[in-house]
Amino acid sequence: MIDPALLQALSEGRDILCVSHISPDGDAVGSLLGMGRLLRRLGKQPVLALQDPVPAEHRVLPGAADIITQQSPDFEIAVRQRRFDLIVCVDSSSPDRMGAVYNAPVHDAATLLVIDHHVTNTRFGAINWVAPECAAACQMLVYLADALEVPLEGELAECLLTGIVTDTLCFRTDSTTPDVLSAAMRLMQGGADLSTITARTVNRRPFRLIRLWGRVLPSVQLEDGVIWTAISRRDLAEAGDVIEDVNLSSFLVTADEADISAVFTELANDGSGPAVDCSFRAKPGFDVSRLAFSFGGGGHPAASGCTVKGTLPDVIAQVTPVMKAARRSQLQNGAHSGGAQA
Ligand code: 5GP
Ligand code: MN
Repeated sequence: MIDPALLQALSEGRDILCVSHISPDGDAVGSLLGMGRLLRRLGKQPVLALQDPVPAEHRVLPGAADIITQQSPDFEIAVRQRRFDLIVCVDSSSPDRMGAVYNAPVHDAATLLVIDHHVTNTRFGAINWVAPECAAACQMLVYLADALEVPLEGELAECLLTGIVTDTLCFRTDSTTPDVLSAAMRLMQGGADLSTITARTVNRRPFRLIRLWGRVLPSVQLEDGVIWTAISRRDLAEAGDVIEDVNLSSFLVTADEADISAVFTELANDGSGPAVDCSFRAKPGFDVSRLAFSFGGGGHPAASGCTVKGTLPDVIAQVTPVMKAARRSQLQNGAHSGGAQA
């Protein structure tokens, strides 16, 4: 049951901004475009914005070219300086995830509506619909479409199935419930092509990414059921200026002997000192969301992330003991190891 206040806010909104998270993934782009389509069905003309560019594999989604990003010449005027009365934020667990799109105090006057499925969501909106039982924000929009009596077909179905496929790694995560499959089935029945979406998202990567994996896999480490590796700026440059989601932590956690994985990526220095992006994954039964949250990030039990200040060696020295301790306490609380010795 969707909060009637949420439906009322959508129907009353006049100047509407829709936003999703920095470094957008398939669920961010899919739910942003899906939200835009639902609002247009209500007769609205929402502005869709993201801080960062839409990744190449999602640029083919219908409407992606109309998303305003920080690189667009009208980002300041059409997004940051514009006064909206409603802001709809999808797939984002905390306000910082909106990045430069959200401009306080100009945007503070708008009603902020949060639609998200992260268990770590801080409920930062005036109206918050947080559904951790949903595998993707796009799954929530299937239910929103039902509530708004919008048929799940055509381009809407394609956008929404993209988010479900990418956030479940094509129905392989333990967030893949019968409800997820049922939502996906309805989107396919509405015309979304699963094999096309799979082929352009989870079943592909640029060659430079494979080269990068090749560079950093020799230094992979496994201790106490925790597996990790590190990626420096030099690795990214020498593999061919990698800019995309490296997506290596999901691969590392497939090791039989590991329950939790991390990939530590050195961030470009923006003048505020060195910092490292941490990408965590967990086997079913283990939880990396609280770990990421404790470092100021967030995510899901099986996939989470955070940014930690410091150099690569410092951050690895700081975070890996916390990962081991988290795994140990989860084992004591009944989680079953994938094969490692406790
Ligand atoms: P990934 O490892 O694919 O970058 O991220 C996995 C999950 O963690 C995603 O659901 C993403 O939203 C969340 N996540 C990644 N980095 C951060 C972060 O810095 N802050 C927060 N709040 N969530 C993050
Ligand atoms: Mn998501």
